[in-house]
Amino acid sequence: FLPMDIAANLASIRSRIEAACLRASRDPSEVSLLAVSKGQPAEAVADAAASGQIWFGESKVQEARAKIPQCPASARWHMIGHLQTNKARDAVHLFEMIESVDSLRLAEDLQKAADKAAKTVRILLEVNAAGESTKFGYSPALLLEEFMRINAFPRLEIHGLMTIAPWSPSPERARPVFRRLRELRSQCEDLLGAPLPTLSMGMSGDFETAIEEGSTLVRVGTSLFGSRSPLRRDPAAEPG
Ligand SMILES: *Cc1c(COP(=O)(O)O)cnc(C)c1O
Repeated sequence: FLPMDIAANLASIRSRIEAACLRASRDPSEVSLLAVSKGQPAEAVADAAASGQIWFGESKVQEARAKIPQCPASARWHMIGHLQTNKARDAVHLFEMIESVDSLRLAEDLQKAADKAAKTVRILLEVNAAGESTKFGYSPALLLEEFMRINAFPRLEIHGLMTIAPWSPSPERARPVFRRLRELRSQCEDLLGAPLPTLSMGMSGDFETAIEEGSTLVRVGTSLFGSRSPLRRDPAAEPG
């Protein structure tokens, strides 16, 4: 995978984001691109950063802890994977936003870690909007029940909601899930009495549909960096 490819892929994704915004009569500046670098070497991050990409997403604390110090300082990081409570402390230090808060217990541990670090942590609440048994995330009912309790943690700043749509070869299948997340955001805004700016939804296969349904943050991995097969691991990390 050549650096040129990442630059070209990035340009193509950005123009697809703009086209989707135009179709939906939205201003492209409302939609941010998170480059999902899990399973990719630091060099891939450096190539994307050299093409102007700022935001990157990782799904494992351990991988992020090893990779982030090798990446350009301009790169800024979101945690997008399931977070075990015992990793809360590391996560608070590594990431500017944690998109995968899915329980009161985790929120409590993030609050404690943030307090120790004297930091405010930006979070999204992850919603299992399609009710898939294999996915992490709040059920819509529990989300609405616990929203204000999580909002009460002084070190946590809720910016919005995140969801992962069920995988399907047809992005249209994800549309009702994205719509559901947008409705849930309105319900949370009603509880809060204030706007929630972020709707993190849409990945390589469905980000254009997500933008049509109001996404403000698309998380794109394979369309940008290529596949995450083991062969694409950092050669420097391989023995011999
Ligand atoms: C891996 C991952 C992505 C990126 O998926 P692609 O299909 O490679 O674009 C986005 N969001 C989350 C939460 C992920 O774990």
